[in-house]
Amino acid sequence: MWTATDGVRLHVVVSQGQSHNPQKRRLEEELAEQAARLPGVAVAVVPHLYDLAYDGPVFRQLRAVTGPLAVFAWMYERATRWILDRNGVRGQEGLTELKNQEDPDDELDDEEWGDEPDRSTEDEKPRVIHDRPPPARPIYCFDLRLRDEPAAFVAELERIIGQLPPASYAVASQDSSESPHTSPSAAMPLLSWLEGTPRADQLERYLQPAEQPTPGLVQRLEEAAQRRWYPVIDYSRCTNCMECIDFCLFGVYGVDRAQTILVEQPDNCRKGCPACSRVCPENAIIFPQHKTPAIAGAPASVGGLKIDLSKLFGGDPLQLAVQERDEQLLLAGRQAVGMSVGIPKRQANKTAQPADELDKLIDQLDTLEL
Ligand code: SF4
Ligand code: SF4
Repeated sequence: MWTATDGVRLHVVVSQGQSHNPQKRRLEEELAEQAARLPGVAVAVVPHLYDLAYDGPVFRQLRAVTGPLAVFAWMYERATRWILDRNGVRGQEGLTELKNQEDPDDELDDEEWGDEPDRSTEDEKPRVIHDRPPPARPIYCFDLRLRDEPAAFVAELERIIGQLPPASYAVASQDSSESPHTSPSAAMPLLSWLEGTPRADQLERYLQPAEQPTPGLVQRLEEAAQRRWYPVIDYSRCTNCMECIDFCLFGVYGVDRAQTILVEQPDNCRKGCPACSRVCPENAIIFPQHKTPAIAGAPASVGGLKIDLSKLFGGDPLQLAVQERDEQLLLAGRQAVGMSVGIPKRQANKTAQPADELDKLIDQLDTLEL
């Protein structure tokens, strides 16, 4: 079990790439080894987080860690954050100072980006996250594609550790088997329950701590995993409008007891199909493995400027989504439905963005090499 109590201030997770690319493996291994030498750090190497099951051994152990967490993966930070959240590993977004080496602040000025979209009313929209705030512990997510060498990642870990409070954190009293859609994971710093009335099992665990990671030791959490393909919902953007559930004809989406959208049958999703991400009016649906940054979870703000991701899909997103859905329906031996099913009027009336504006935005994003 990768569980730790006293002395561990930061748990670090290195999520391996799906391929066995030797350069990627070298970076993962060197980063894990160097991070494990930092004082107060426990490190685990795990298979690619996106491919893991909610009830599998890796997420069970990650849910048991309630203190600060740093997670490195081969995908955008936003994708990692919401994969963790949807698997019950929840926390506040930890702010990192590690940026793309070609910092857009230096490359592009306001004029090149154009005017910042007016979000004054949009920011007032009720989002799903408002109804289910995450626990206070920070989770720092890193995109391993930002650097070829581990040094900058390790330096950022040292900076983060320097900012953490000295108190150690307990492991969760038990693995929560609650669905991530119905309740936040139980999170309770050790000191908070010591001030109250700990349950017998909590007290026993504190008096006789379970296995503790040896400093400098990298633990490996194994799980048989195959490549998967499914949407991940960013609840900080989702407004629960239900357009995705109306659009998808493969039974991927559902609602929980509070009538909140969720990905109920992720493995029903059609491999390679990103159609519903183009339909979502809030760009809240992420396919972490898609080649288009806006679909794969690219940051909604770069260099202090918020980007209207909807302009980065190219072409008419709705037409493209309908075409992709029809292709998948035919591949599944079903009838194409075109625009006749699941198209909200608001979307159907949308006109395509002018091509030159789209091209400019896509070119700008490409120059960032996110
Ligand atoms: S379409 Fe987007 S905003 Fe609407 S419920 Fe689905 S994920 Fe949320
Ligand atoms: S990508 Fe296609 S199959 Fe998958 S959830 Fe979206 S609409 Fe459904």
